[in-house]
Amino acid sequence: MTNRPTPQPGILKIAPYVPGRSKAAPGVTAIKLSSNESPLGASPRAIAAYKSVAEHLEIYPEGTSAVLRTALAEVHGLDAERIVCGNGSDDLLHLLAQCYIGDGDDAVMSQYGFSVYPIVTEGAGGSIIMAPEADYTASVEALLAAVTERTRMVFLANPNNPTGTYLSEAEVARLHAGLRPDVLLVIDSAYAEYVTAADYSVGADLVEQAENVVMVRTFSKMGLAAARIGWMYGPAHVVDAVNRIRGPFNVNLPGQLAATEATRDVDFTRRLRDYNAQWRDWITAELSSNHLRVVQSEANFVMVLFPDAAQAAAAFEALLARGLIVREIGASYGIANGLRISIGPEAAMRGVVEILKSMVFVQ
Ligand SMILES: *Cc1c(COP(=O)(O)O)cnc(C)c1O
Repeated sequence: MTNRPTPQPGILKIAPYVPGRSKAAPGVTAIKLSSNESPLGASPRAIAAYKSVAEHLEIYPEGTSAVLRTALAEVHGLDAERIVCGNGSDDLLHLLAQCYIGDGDDAVMSQYGFSVYPIVTEGAGGSIIMAPEADYTASVEALLAAVTERTRMVFLANPNNPTGTYLSEAEVARLHAGLRPDVLLVIDSAYAEYVTAADYSVGADLVEQAENVVMVRTFSKMGLAAARIGWMYGPAHVVDAVNRIRGPFNVNLPGQLAATEATRDVDFTRRLRDYNAQWRDWITAELSSNHLRVVQSEANFVMVLFPDAAQAAAAFEALLARGLIVREIGASYGIANGLRISIGPEAAMRGVVEILKSMVFVQ
């Protein structure tokens, strides 16, 4: 007996999520390049839809996000019955872990995978197993070798945050082919809208061919982070399980309507991808010298590697002094010599390059 309520075993062992910094020095205008938000804001159609319900905040949202599921199904060519929407994709990752992971189970992820996977796994009573990566890229062999009898889930962010690297459609198929049928493969395609690689697949085809694959998506990186909208596409039996435990009104109404318009505004999505690709290529080329390495990214950020942690920290401070807030990835991801820089407005991109090129880095 203890003299106060005690969380379930494991909860207090979870390392809390560390968000990117969002404040610069007093008096300096901050430009946030630390959270991979949209470089072009939100679709104007989505903003108008969000505002349209401001006068009716007393009304409960429709509980199944039907209007949004219908739009997603039409635009992406999917079955609306097999889509579940969530309060951000974090909500869905938690729900999947609650459904499939219990005490003594484990889940596998790759070494530099997204830092929410350990939280949802340990929160459900399981343990996370990290598979080593080769050159900051998930390794199919290592992920498969890490699977144990107690493995219930494998998480793959594709492309991955914070590295920006991805696995091709063929590699993901090979990963799936090597898993037992009772292991759920969760393909987190949070950055799908930004990918330009021709051999990439978002994962929906694999969902349709298999009974143990789920694709998770988000609107957060395409302009609606504040609205908290995520969605998943899965086999009917997984959708049924998740729907039994999700909050009955888990997606707010302004967000449902905004995301519906954002889904249908395919011109805006295309502009976002084109803008991002242009500046991602530019910053990659500009910074790939002076002892810096920019890891080839398919997302809306780049990971820049410095010769050591001290030089990465110095670069972080130099950028911060000019109001350019980027993401340190030492404490949360174990890449102490790296910084993650979101693709942002042109002036911010030029500022980052100017500052980093003015510094002297040594091997
Ligand atoms: C940002 C991100 C998410 C999404 O989060 P939301 O909860 O939808 O805001 C999911 N997965 C990865 C890999 C991400 O980087």
